[in-house]
Amino acid sequence: MADYLVRAMGFNGQVRAYAISSTETVEEARRRQDTWATASAALGRTLTISVMMGAMLKGEDKLTVKIEGDGPIGAIIADANSKGQVRGYLKNPHVDFDLNKKGKLDVAKAVGTSGTLSIVKDLGMRDHFTGQVPIVSGEVSEDFTYYFANSEQVPSAVGAGVLVNTDHTILAAGGFIVQMMPGADEDTTAEIEKRLSEIEPISKMVQDGKTPEQILEAVLGEGNVQFLDTMPVEFKCHCSRERVEMAISSLGDDEIQRMIEEDHGAEAKCHFCNEDYHFDIKALKQLQSSPS
Ligand code: ZN
Repeated sequence: MADYLVRAMGFNGQVRAYAISSTETVEEARRRQDTWATASAALGRTLTISVMMGAMLKGEDKLTVKIEGDGPIGAIIADANSKGQVRGYLKNPHVDFDLNKKGKLDVAKAVGTSGTLSIVKDLGMRDHFTGQVPIVSGEVSEDFTYYFANSEQVPSAVGAGVLVNTDHTILAAGGFIVQMMPGADEDTTAEIEKRLSEIEPISKMVQDGKTPEQILEAVLGEGNVQFLDTMPVEFKCHCSRERVEMAISSLGDDEIQRMIEEDHGAEAKCHFCNEDYHFDIKALKQLQSSPS
């Protein structure tokens, strides 16, 4: 089934909520980045939450998530927009550990337990927003929960789960974000907290193949959710040969001449999708403003 996201309100508008199935999106990232299991889970959780954060934006707005922990995978970067498109990568994809004591992929060990989580929102002409918090757990979901509470002052519950097959492909991925709206009453907050402490872990829900709608009903309780709309979700990179050409042109004729004479061509790789762009001497000459 194709990935999608559902938007909802809960408890008569006191809560806004998002849930997503992201199996194909995470699998596409894994395939492109060749991530090993623990790294796939770290990147997959980040992509899953980033898409939902993107869905909170409007129009052409977009955001970049950067998790810089002290673990072996190095920095994780993800870009998301308001249209359900996300792309992302991490520095060292070949990281895999034994399962942790709870029998789960040891994401905290891969990410690290100290460092920073930062979010840059590009709100077009209007504004730029940057928020940064310290990493509090390295499990990703908890770090976003902390980010929402402390950087955006929105009490939130965040869950993301990624399950990996023995051949390293992605078995299932998904998640949710539940946020208290201003003026939400204490009873609602208390009920959601109680539910969150009792429900099965998101990884189990994802493994059981629960739909985004079913995930929200599990988190908020059947009858407490009003679904608003759904949106397709996909891994999509915005790089193109034209953009790489522009970047090379901007280096200037002298530098391009050096590439022609010393390197006999140029290679560029997109970090986000691992696409290779090759330029031979003829192609490079065409990028010089005054061909020599
Ligand atoms: Zn790309």
